[in-house]
Amino acid sequence: MLDSASKTFFHLIAQSRTLKHLASRYGMRKASSFARRFIAGETAAEAIAAARALETRGITTTLDLLGESVTNLAEADAATRAYIDVVDAIVASGIAERNVSLKLTQLGLDVDKASAVDNLRKILERAQPAGFFVRIDMENSPYTEVTLEIVETLWQHGYQQIGVVLQAALYRSEKDLERMNALGVRVRLVKGAYKEPKSVAYQKKADVDAAYARMVKALLAAGHYPAIATHDPAMLELARQYAANNGITPDRFEFQMLYGVRRDLQTKLTAGGYKMRVYIPFGREWFPYFMRRLGERPANVMFVIRSVVGETG
Ligand SMILES: Cc1cc2nc3c(=O)[nH]c(=O)nc-3n(C[C@H](O)[C@H](O)[C@H](O)COP(=O)(O)OP(=O)(O)OC[C@H]3O[C@@H](n4cnc5c(N)ncnc54)[C@H](O)[C@@H]3O)c2cc1C
Repeated sequence: MLDSASKTFFHLIAQSRTLKHLASRYGMRKASSFARRFIAGETAAEAIAAARALETRGITTTLDLLGESVTNLAEADAATRAYIDVVDAIVASGIAERNVSLKLTQLGLDVDKASAVDNLRKILERAQPAGFFVRIDMENSPYTEVTLEIVETLWQHGYQQIGVVLQAALYRSEKDLERMNALGVRVRLVKGAYKEPKSVAYQKKADVDAAYARMVKALLAAGHYPAIATHDPAMLELARQYAANNGITPDRFEFQMLYGVRRDLQTKLTAGGYKMRVYIPFGREWFPYFMRRLGERPANVMFVIRSVVGETG
């Protein structure tokens, strides 16, 4: 299947050091460079500028300092300090709606679980008193259970301005949704960005879409300020219809989209009275994120090629 094959292909080339090196050199060089379509920049200041621009259009944001899979505790500590600096920079910037997203492998989950939890706690200690909401992104399936367990533990320890992400592609997610709804945790529902084996995930797009549709309804019916994160017009329409038919007013949920993707729909939904949050990734470690976006939509490759040819020509 093309969808699955293209995810595999981009997952493989995401591991190429040569490509990473070349992309890092050219992808962010100028305001018009190709990676800037999906990544706000390499610095917090650039991400905050992007957030401000969206805020003036009535769109809220969540900032994601890119980075994942650190391989030692020193890197995990550095990432934690960098996140705390981002929190401080957002506070100083005056952005009204304070919201960040992060990945646990960036905080050292692969190296030592206890240290990763400790690092997350440090970030929460700074962020929560300042009114932040912290979304724990969901990584590939080996991390699903441990991520949910960490969220549950922190939640029970009183850190309740945190939320999770569930991926409709995984068979287990409908049960996980009940688990998170019962606890009261805010859920962001996505289709799932990772290439997963058929032992754990639907392989056909139609099956993922069907699971997403079921989960949208379950989330709107029983979730806690859910986030419907998709660019798929059919899913957006389904969510709107289901909410309208069941008396769920637009202030009780939000739509979320990625920076640079379907900006037309972002504007249209905001104008229609819906809440829209845009996920703004930034930072020097943008290559794996960028590759996942290419894998989702091979047409983006043409966009990159045109930009590169345009730049060098
Ligand atoms: C706010 C947010 C946070 C996310 N967090 C996570 C996470 O924590 N973990 C995780 O696994 N995944 C995450 N994702 C990614 C998600 O899992 C999907 O991979 C991604 O959203 C594409 O799926 P889709 O629902 O938009 O539907 P699709 O069926 O893939 O796409 C529907 C339509 O959207 C448009 N579109 C989709 N992707 C692109 C793109 N890259 N470029 C241009 N157009 C595109 C196209 O018009 C396409 O036809 C997140 C997505 C969003 C919006």
